[in-house]
Parts: sequence; C-alpha cells; structure tokens
Amino acid sequence: MSSGKELDKNNDTLPWLKEGEEDPFLMEEDVLVIFKCLDCGKEDEVPDFVVDEFAYGLSEGEEVEVVCPYCNGTMREARNALSD
Ligand SMILES: [Zn+2]
Repeated sequence: MSSGKELDKNNDTLPWLKEGEEDPFLMEEDVLVIFKCLDCGKEDEVPDFVVDEFAYGLSEGEEVEVVCPYCNGTMREARNALSD
C-alpha cells in the first residue's frame, strides 16, 4: 500500500541498490521477528526492516503493532518474558 513511499526512501538510503537491481529484502539474511496476535493467538513472522518502519514515529515505550492476517486483530512482538 505504501510502495510509492518506499521507493523514495530507497533512493535516499539504499544507493547500493542500483548496482545489483535485486530486491535486498528478499535476501536470506533477513531477520524475522515473531509477532503474536493478541486476539486469536496466532503467530506470524515479520522481517525486521518492516518492524523498523512500523517503529518509526512511535513514542518511547510504545510497541510496534501490526494487523493480524488471520483475524484482523492486533499483533505485537512476541517476547519470551511476557508477564501480562
Ligand atoms: Zn489474529
């Protein structure tokens, strides 16, 4: 949905992208972050660059939230030490 915006950004921050013409986001080195749905409990993997984009503009202490692909609920990063 925001692909137009991302193109602008790539031109600014990823000059090396022009050399290979390959999409760097498809490389196997991508780090995946596990997100868990607060509503249905399913988990989904989100590449960390996507998490970074979601995190941009959040206030300190706010958590990244993504829309659950299964139930349209709210997913948050799954953490081992989740206490609440
Ligand atoms: Zn869900």
